[in-house]
Amino acid sequence: MKAFRPGHILRFSGESRLKPRLIIVCAPSGAGKSTLCARIVNEYPEIIENVSFTTRPMRGQEEDGVDYFFIDQEEFEEKKARGFFVESATVHNHSYGVSQAQIETALASGRPIILDIDVQGAKTLTAKFQDALTIFVMPPSIEELKRRLELRDQGKTNNLELRIQNATKELKEADKFKYNVVNADLEVAYEEFKKIVEMELGTS
Ligand code: ADP
Ligand code: 5GP
Repeated sequence: MKAFRPGHILRFSGESRLKPRLIIVCAPSGAGKSTLCARIVNEYPEIIENVSFTTRPMRGQEEDGVDYFFIDQEEFEEKKARGFFVESATVHNHSYGVSQAQIETALASGRPIILDIDVQGAKTLTAKFQDALTIFVMPPSIEELKRRLELRDQGKTNNLELRIQNATKELKEADKFKYNVVNADLEVAYEEFKKIVEMELGTS
């Protein structure tokens, strides 16, 4: 679940300490990217968190317009046809897409935007935004990944086996990212993650 809450953008009124750039964070589902993104957004509220559009069913405590914009396939196809998405892909049998307007608005406001997307999405977006910062979050093992998913979703993960199969494939793509962060101990992983963001986007 994402940290983004309505009002988050409005609450930040200072000058951004970070350059306006895309921060693309990829990882197999369950590796901890939402956790790391939530923490960095909490520490750097000038970072805008992208809210993607998806056709997958809502999970647990998720909220429409907060974690995702939950839409049906018909609306997704209509948006896609009129060029609403700067990137869209099928992930674990559901459609996901990033709104072009959200990215443009963030960058125009002089602030970075962080995106939690899959490896296909990262490839499409880095072709369009060549200076995007790319970070791949690795789980310590596939067993631990499965354990985290089962714990997080109380044994009700949508497409669990497919997510595990995809994880093995996604891990092979890690070397295409500028940085790899292993999320074994959360505190260690977060410090490393934060250091990368500050080094790449810091203005002072
Ligand atoms: P993702 O966004 O990559 O699917 P999440 O951030 O939702 O992953 O993390 C999956 C689960 O694992 C969550 O319940 C989260 O609290 C937990 N988690 C994240 N990082 C760690 C860690 N380093 N050690 C143990 N559990 C973790
Ligand atoms: P989940 O359904 O667990 O929230 O996300 C499943 C996967 O879809 C994750 O790897 C997540 O990063 C990815 N994802 C979320 N939004 C987008 C998007 O807009 N585009 C792409 N390509 N992937 C996305």
